[in-house]
Amino acid sequence: MVEDGAITQVGRPAHAGGRKADLVISAKGMAVIPGLVDTHIHLAQSLLRGSADDLSLVDWLTRRVWPLQAVFTKEDGRVSAELSMLEMLKSGTTSFVGVDVVSRYGFDGIARAVASTGMRAALAKTIMDSPGYGTKSSIMPEGLVEDKDECIREAKSMIRKWNGVKGGLVRTWVAPRSLGGCSKELYSDVADLAREERTRVTMHLAEVREDVTYAKKNFGLTPFGFIEKVGLSGPGSLFAHMVWLDDRDVRRVGKTKSNVAHCPSSNLKLASGIPKVPELMEAGANVGLGCDGAPCNNSYDMVREMKLAAVIQKARLLDPRAMPAADVLRMATLNGARAMGMESQVGSIEVGKRADLVLIDLKKPHLVPFTDIISNIVYSAMGSDVDTVLVDGKVLVRGGEALTLDEGRIVSEAQKSQDGLFARSGLRA
Ligand SMILES: [Zn+2]
Repeated sequence: MVEDGAITQVGRPAHAGGRKADLVISAKGMAVIPGLVDTHIHLAQSLLRGSADDLSLVDWLTRRVWPLQAVFTKEDGRVSAELSMLEMLKSGTTSFVGVDVVSRYGFDGIARAVASTGMRAALAKTIMDSPGYGTKSSIMPEGLVEDKDECIREAKSMIRKWNGVKGGLVRTWVAPRSLGGCSKELYSDVADLAREERTRVTMHLAEVREDVTYAKKNFGLTPFGFIEKVGLSGPGSLFAHMVWLDDRDVRRVGKTKSNVAHCPSSNLKLASGIPKVPELMEAGANVGLGCDGAPCNNSYDMVREMKLAAVIQKARLLDPRAMPAADVLRMATLNGARAMGMESQVGSIEVGKRADLVLIDLKKPHLVPFTDIISNIVYSAMGSDVDTVLVDGKVLVRGGEALTLDEGRIVSEAQKSQDGLFARSGLRA
C-alpha cells in the first residue's frame, strides 16, 4: 500500500484503515521489484544511437561522438533528455545519474524536462579546463570546450537553482570531465566545490589503458591513486567504469567506500576490458549498474544490462558462481540507490521508503515457467516486459505506455534532431 508517495504496507493488504484506495493496481501475474537505478547515463547521447559503432574509445570520441555533440542546440539537449527518459522509464528505470551535462545542451531545459517527467535524477554538470583526453591534448572540438571559471560558476548556479526541487526528485552534482580534461588543481577545486555546496561528484575513471598511461606519466600514480590524493575518493563519489585498477586500487576503492558505476555493455563494445566487480564488492566498494550512452551500448535498458553484468564475470573468472542473479538485482536497485546517497529513501520495497516500484509482466513465453523469479528477471526478462512504473508513488508508466512523456512527439523530434546534427557537423550518417 502506498500513501503520500511512501510505502505503508507490504504484502497482502491486512487493512486499509477503513478507507477506500484512490487507485488499485492489480499485480496478478506480475513481479513487483524496486525501481531500477541507472548510475551512469549520458542524456545527450540517445540522439547518437547507431552513430559511432565499432571504434575504440578515443577514436569513438574524437571521430564521431564529440563532433556530433559539439553542434547540439539547447533544443537537441532537451529532445535527447526526453528520448533517454522515455526509454529508461518504459524499461523500469526510476532513478538515474545523468553525466556529461555541458552548457551547450542547456542545463535548465534538461532539468525542466526531468522535473516534468517525474523521474528521480542527479544531473552532473561537467567541469573542465583543458580540451584533451588522456595522453592526447587539444583534441576536443571547439563547441564542447568550456572555460574553468564559467563551468564552476554555472555549476554553482545550477546547484542553487535545481538541487532538491520537486520534493528532492531532482539533484545537481558536479562531474570533472575526465583524466586529461582537467588540470591537477581543478580536481581539488571540484572537491572543495562539492564540500561547500554539499553535493556529490561523479566522473569517468580508469576506463581504458590510456587513463593509466596518462596518470602514471603526469602524476606518477594510478588513476584511482591520483583521485585519492586530490581528495575525491569516498562515499560521496561515484566513479564510472573502473576497469583498469591494480590490486592496491581495488583495496583502496573498498577501504574508502567509494561508489562504482559498472557499465558492462559499454566496456565490452568499446573493448575497454572487464572490471573486477566481484573483487571490488568483496573489498567493500559499493557497485551499481549503468547503461552509459546510446553510442556505446546502444540501449538504456537496465534489465538487459543486468544479464550482461551477471554473465561476463562468470566467463572472466571461469566460475559460474561468480555474480549470482540476486547480487546483480541488488546492484541495479539498492546499490544504485546507495551510489546516489538515497539508500534510506529508495532501492528496496520496505515500509517507510518512497514508492519507486516496477511491475514486470511474467505472462510471457520467455518468462514461464518460473521457479525462481529473480533468475527469470535477471537472465530472461527484457525492459519491454515492464508493465507499470511508479516513482514517488505516482504512476508514470501503465500498460507499457509512458504517461508523462509524449512518445509520438519525442520519437519524431529525435529523428529530426539527429538529421540536424549530421547536417551541421558535416559527418556522414
Ligand atoms: Zn560515460
